[in-house]
Amino acid sequence: MKKLYFIPGSQDLYGAECLRQVAEDCARMVAFFNEKLGDTIAFELLPTVETSRICVEDMRRAMDDDDCVGVITWMHTFSPAKMWIKGLQLLRKPLLHLHTQANEKLPYDEIDMDFMNLNQAAHGDREYGFILAKLHIPHEVVAGYYEHEDVLAGIRRFAQVAKAIDYSYHLRVATFGNNMRDVAVTDGNRLEAEIKFGWEIKYWGIGEIARLADAVTEVEADAKLKEYTDKYIMDTDNLAAVREQAKYEIAFEKFMAKNECQAFTDTFQDLFGMNQLPGIAAQNLMAKGVGFGPEGDYKISAFSAVLMKMAEGRKGATGFIEDYTYDLTPGQELELASHMLEVPASFAATQPKIQVHPLGIGNKADPARLVFDSVTGDGIQVTLIDLGDHFRIICADIELVKVPHPMPKLPVAQIMYRHKPNFRIGTAAWCYAGGAHHSVVSTALTREDIAMFAHLTGTELIVIGDDTTEADLRKI
Ligand code: MN
Repeated sequence: MKKLYFIPGSQDLYGAECLRQVAEDCARMVAFFNEKLGDTIAFELLPTVETSRICVEDMRRAMDDDDCVGVITWMHTFSPAKMWIKGLQLLRKPLLHLHTQANEKLPYDEIDMDFMNLNQAAHGDREYGFILAKLHIPHEVVAGYYEHEDVLAGIRRFAQVAKAIDYSYHLRVATFGNNMRDVAVTDGNRLEAEIKFGWEIKYWGIGEIARLADAVTEVEADAKLKEYTDKYIMDTDNLAAVREQAKYEIAFEKFMAKNECQAFTDTFQDLFGMNQLPGIAAQNLMAKGVGFGPEGDYKISAFSAVLMKMAEGRKGATGFIEDYTYDLTPGQELELASHMLEVPASFAATQPKIQVHPLGIGNKADPARLVFDSVTGDGIQVTLIDLGDHFRIICADIELVKVPHPMPKLPVAQIMYRHKPNFRIGTAAWCYAGGAHHSVVSTALTREDIAMFAHLTGTELIVIGDDTTEADLRKI
């Protein structure tokens, strides 16, 4: 279980009784968080910072513990912030400044100077906030009484984002084949991606998968086919093509397990030794949280894995999507977003059908794929581009809608959405921002999640939504 360390601040000026009370209040607070948020993350109390030395020891512990994904700090009393400098300089994990109190209401009849000395977050947290600003440490602030629902929601969000950042830092991406020839936005600097987000992007030839797929036993293939037919409707007579995909998926699973990768890419331009482009194999793996990018898009492969981790435990679908074509009926503009075939099965609103159809490119056999209608509702579309001197995240609010008319001749999973605030501004903003045609769509995550991730990783963020205006387009 991943955890957050809770580090309270005080000092030795107020005497042993005060420090005992600080520790007691914090233990109660941590127990409350474990009770309310324990399904997401564990909380552990560290010694109260009374001196610079204790702060350094606490932060060293947070850094040395691989299960620790972040730190929460709170100044119960005044805690002179010079004591925090050296410790905070060691911390390189997400930081939440919880601006709260042990008490919800002021005890007007009882309040005296002892109470004031003990409960002075309004004083101590401002001193502490100053040193965070002075040190330029990216962090989140959640303000309010710690038992209130909005505060708990803020801490839960932080925990989910911190877990995603930790996951990102340890993420390994297997790229089979390289970037699609001539495509710009999928390319970038892999070295910078590892420095910035921790992604280890490793190249292998797709022949590795072809060889492993050849070695898959019929018993293994039968088991994978049963997994398919348990979940999906077999809507083809070409069982050999589906079996081929089942072998691909087993091969990817074995390869990624052996090489400790959680995401992968392929490209239809390099399928040496393969009979088909991976279709259902990729779709089924994505539905299990495995990151995927087509055409060698390692950024979206890694980013989708990170965002699926962030969305863990929430309702809704999250995964890779590709922008394709529009319905430009005035006032009813919609986008049809369906990749050639690799749409994650997690977006299925209906039980997916397994079908086999020609692909049209790649000069390979007809690939088996899952065909389904998508979930609907509010969501976000997020992408990440590499501008050479920095990365940029673009996050647009969208509404996933039901397909207005059947498309019987389009044999892929179909996802349609409406842009916000409207087609003209929403898509123009995306284009001005340099947004890719590969992105992650989510009905589980919100702009606030992405904003926290961008802030804590120091990444530029452009948001598009109902609050985006014509005038904003000129500021991008
Ligand atoms: Mn593409």
